Amino acid sequence: ATNTRIAVVTGGNKGIGFEVCRQLASKGITVILTARNEKRGTAAVQELKGAGLHNVIFHQLDITDAPGIARLADFLKARFGRIDFLVNNGALGAVEYVEDPANIAATSEEKLRGMSKEEREVWMYSKVRETLPAAKEGIRTNYYGTKDVTEGLLPLLKASPDGRILFVSSDFGLIGQLKDEQLKKELDDIDNLTEKKLDEMLTTYLKDFEAGALEARGWPTHFSAYRMGLVAMNAYSRIIARRHPELCINCANPGYIKTDMSVYTGTLTPAEGANNLLKVLLLPQGGPTGKYFDEGTEAPF
Ligand code: NDP
Repeated sequence: ATNTRIAVVTGGNKGIGFEVCRQLASKGITVILTARNEKRGTAAVQELKGAGLHNVIFHQLDITDAPGIARLADFLKARFGRIDFLVNNGALGAVEYVEDPANIAATSEEKLRGMSKEEREVWMYSKVRETLPAAKEGIRTNYYGTKDVTEGLLPLLKASPDGRILFVSSDFGLIGQLKDEQLKKELDDIDNLTEKKLDEMLTTYLKDFEAGALEARGWPTHFSAYRMGLVAMNAYSRIIARRHPELCINCANPGYIKTDMSVYTGTLTPAEGANNLLKVLLLPQGGPTGKYFDEGTEAPF
């Protein structure tokens, strides 16, 4: 048994997730930094330990690997008997990058100076291609993987007196970008929304992608699979917040962040993004649940 709080972070090896681990550990919280790649994950933990943060533990986790999720849950149960925080951070851009984002980073800073957020997004879009395999893998990871991790770790969160789940989200996941009025209504009707409905939405979406009918059928077209994975994830977070009122479950947009995923087009640093997430994760006990926060401030879904 331990008195310090215990946090699990997915995709903790780099970007925003890495900074979330650093900031949580700096507050004395025990952090289980997970990463799908053992080498990248242990290197990240070593870096934090080198900075004097010894309360960080590595555990391998690919969020799309169901047996791996069960292994992590077993480890946590044996070691701690519970967890207090789950930060669902790990995700893919759901696109193919035309070159390694880390290489583009070196040249982008100069080009991006003075550009607005919209101009930066246009520039980023020129560095990617939307393909069906990347769309499928993105949705499999960002929605289904996140959902499976959440379900796998729920019993451990329920064992905490103050269990919390933070879904790292984005304004790319807001309902307003959809054109189908019926679907928009269903997504916002939380009392009647089901996971089955979300499955049907994503299946139809991928069929329409394959048929080249995204625009005709009213789906988002730019970063479309990334957006649809987040639309589903946001809706799912609201479903489980309703189902588990004893937990605190929210979605939070960190802001537009300079990371591999955004090809370093963001306007904020990963540390600033992580700080925006911690504002939500660490709200006083008894705070809002089933809500969306934009850079630390509650906003509509
Ligand atoms: P990065 O690409 O820097 O980091 C993504 C992380 O997710 C990496 O650690 C990556 O691991 C991990 N990951 C990918 N697939 C899996 C998987 N199957 N299992 C476990 N981990 C996985 O991106 P960001 O830091 O920008 O993104 C972090 C989160 O923030 C994401 O949820 C993203 O949607 C969200 N976000 C980002 C914004 C931005 O502007 N950057 C804006 C709003 C939200 P690996 O290193 O092995 O690839």
